[in-house]
Amino acid sequence: MVDFPGAGEFSGLPVESSAEFAAVPDAFQRLWTPHRLVYIEAGPEPHVAECPFCAAPSMSDEKALIVARGEHCYVLLNLFPYNSGHLLVCPYRHVATYDEATPEEVGEMASLTQEAMRVLSATSRCDGFNIGMNQGRIAGAGIAAHLHQHIVPRWATDSNFFPIIAGTKAVPRLLGEVRAEVAAAWPPRRRDRPPVRPE
Ligand SMILES: [Zn+2]
Repeated sequence: MVDFPGAGEFSGLPVESSAEFAAVPDAFQRLWTPHRLVYIEAGPEPHVAECPFCAAPSMSDEKALIVARGEHCYVLLNLFPYNSGHLLVCPYRHVATYDEATPEEVGEMASLTQEAMRVLSATSRCDGFNIGMNQGRIAGAGIAAHLHQHIVPRWATDSNFFPIIAGTKAVPRLLGEVRAEVAAAWPPRRRDRPPVRPE
């Protein structure tokens, strides 16, 4: 425990001076990301007993990170985002590829994608988007069995060296915070639908 100006603001919390610990200084800066521990512990491919895109609609929006529910499709935040606000549009039905989707599902995936672009533009003032689907594991689909379209907002300044040197992507905002903001900005008819079970 040390005393320093302002220490009273942390009343009751132990405050330790780094000077009291053995250390070898170097030129690196540290990005402390304890919230990533859940991903690291889960391993590169988290074990899932049930398809997460089938399970999500029966959960609360907050728990499943859902921002909008349509008639045939819904929109949720990607748990493994490439960027803050990375959304996924999924049909409720468990179909793997785009050509298996019904015309109604295709139509609503398209309209929800348009709405997602407008909402993300309004809430995050992004400069552009990457939009697309990976069809099949060989094409990079993380959950190949259940169709999903990625909507990744892009900023002129979002590229950095982490993905190149460390396989790590810096995501500056927490998922719950982004979910609440995007859901609140979504057109009202897509909000407040009761949780549904896929057919
Ligand atoms: Zn599924």
